[in-house]
Amino acid sequence: MDIIYLIKIGEIILKLGNRREFEDRLRYDLKRRLSGIPARIEISVGRYFLHTGEEHAPAVELILSRTPGVNGFAKAFKREKNMDEIAAAAVLAAREASDGGASSFKVESRRSDKSFPLDSYAISAAVGEIILEKVPALRVDVRNPDVVINVEIRDKAFIYGRVQVGQKGLPVGVSGKGLLLLSGGIDSPVAGWMMAKRGLSIEALYFHAYPYTSDEALGKVKRLAELVADYAGEVKLHVASFTEVQLAIKKRADESRTTLYMRGAMMRVAHRVAAMSGAHSIITGESLGQVASQTAENLRFTGSFTDLAILRPLVGIDKEDTIRMAKAIGTYETSILPFEDCCVLFSPRHPILKAVLDEERKAYDAMELDPLLDETILSMLTFRYGF
Ligand code: ATP
Ligand code: MG
Repeated sequence: MDIIYLIKIGEIILKLGNRREFEDRLRYDLKRRLSGIPARIEISVGRYFLHTGEEHAPAVELILSRTPGVNGFAKAFKREKNMDEIAAAAVLAAREASDGGASSFKVESRRSDKSFPLDSYAISAAVGEIILEKVPALRVDVRNPDVVINVEIRDKAFIYGRVQVGQKGLPVGVSGKGLLLLSGGIDSPVAGWMMAKRGLSIEALYFHAYPYTSDEALGKVKRLAELVADYAGEVKLHVASFTEVQLAIKKRADESRTTLYMRGAMMRVAHRVAAMSGAHSIITGESLGQVASQTAENLRFTGSFTDLAILRPLVGIDKEDTIRMAKAIGTYETSILPFEDCCVLFSPRHPILKAVLDEERKAYDAMELDPLLDETILSMLTFRYGF
């Protein structure tokens, strides 16, 4: 246990009065993610410290960088509270930063132990002078430094330089559970990741239409669930067989309505699966106007099949930006694999753009899909990813 990570967590939330829950959740979540790695988490006055061995640093850093609720983290040196030790550690941190490309620095000190003989200003001045002497490649820039060398005097002295950014957001679970409608596309994995960062634990539901959608398409969705779990911690994936439902819609509905009604049927099933799994919201990758089924009128129709909150984090996001996010979180390459999640067979040539709710609900109800939806739910398969 020779290194310590100093973990910065969402300061704003701490002010909202649910600090305790936030802390408990994050600690529990981190423990599960770190299982198998010798590491110890310590919380003291709102600060998280993670003790581990140098050989585990890469694995620990990967986990910290993907855990919602972690704003940032820094590898810190823990030292006795005397200026020689503090300065020596500050030189190490400064050298690491310089090797990493920094050319300017400043020192910031905080002293919660007021019995320490130097005040924070004097600590910074002394440490800064030694860094200038020992790391000649660095110069001081108090306004816009490449790296801030931090010195914190608590029960011990903590010295750290570079802060790596985290996911920010809220720890998974503080907002309850959301059911993610996960397709094999680009959007829905991104939507799941975004909502995991808002504190939702994620359960996923995929509608499979074998043989119209291939086993490779299912494999792709499983892989995407696993990738979302890198951030959400754990993802249970339900796979519902939708072939019979789709065939029935194709047979019973006007061609221009097939996609719209399929979305409605999906939402109906999602509503029931959410109820079974304790989810209070349904998450989709829909974006306003992106395709015919995503006009405001059609979203209203789809939304009429549930009274749960429908969370559409991409509703106002441009596709380009979604793609950028998908690349950043590592789902893009899998999403663009060429196995379609939906079949041309079911795509109308002229889909309806502005559903009139009452009319379309009447026509939808006349299809009497409920027995088929019951079947779908009864035959669902469940897989688990993460942790
Ligand atoms: P995505 O890239 O997420 O597939 P998309 O832009 O292709 O989205 P649609 O295919 O119209 O848009 O799907 C809209 C949303 O409906 C998806 O983001 C997803 O949440 C849900 N969805 C679509 N198809 C399925 C499916 N087969 N199983 C589960 N959810 C689905
Ligand atoms: Mg799609």
